Amino acid sequence: MAPGIERCMYCGDSLGTSIDHFEPLKEAPLRTFDWLNHLLACSMCNSNQKRDLFPRAADGTALLIDPSRDDPYDHLRLVLNTGRYRARDRRGEATIEVFGLNRGDLVMGRQHAVPRTEAMVMARRAALDAGDHRRAERLMNSLLHHPFIDVLYAMVRAAASPGAAKVMEPEVVPLLADPVFQGMMPGSRRS
Ligand SMILES: [Zn+2]
Repeated sequence: MAPGIERCMYCGDSLGTSIDHFEPLKEAPLRTFDWLNHLLACSMCNSNQKRDLFPRAADGTALLIDPSRDDPYDHLRLVLNTGRYRARDRRGEATIEVFGLNRGDLVMGRQHAVPRTEAMVMARRAALDAGDHRRAERLMNSLLHHPFIDVLYAMVRAAASPGAAKVMEPEVVPLLADPVFQGMMPGSRRS
């Protein structure tokens, strides 16, 4: 549930190869050409998971998190130790269910992404310390194009909390206070 560059906007894993009409056309035919109703998705999330599902609360409001409008973290939490998403509310529950966010391949992929992300964050710091800004920039760019960028988002958030050293390498925790990481967070773009 995070928009990695060119990645599926739902799972953050596979490349986004198809366009999902977030609000299904049969429910919202007037949104057929609404730009914000077109989200980049992988075929697994679009065709196997979400299909035409679009659960609503009793009052008719949509339950699925819209990654182009909502901050997924308001409704979901990624548990770094397990690689699983946990719902913070009903919208989180519905989103995990419909997109299958805790399907086995995604959970394993997030688990593997933790040490990989840590290694790249440390390598970036080492490059900066060595004055090699080009390498630091390449590493940052590579981080942003990796699958499971939601793991990096979760690590940046976790780094600000007291138990941070329990869910990631302790030496990574202070590195995530860097403005380049803080500036990625959805909250930092709100005024
Ligand atoms: Zn997907």
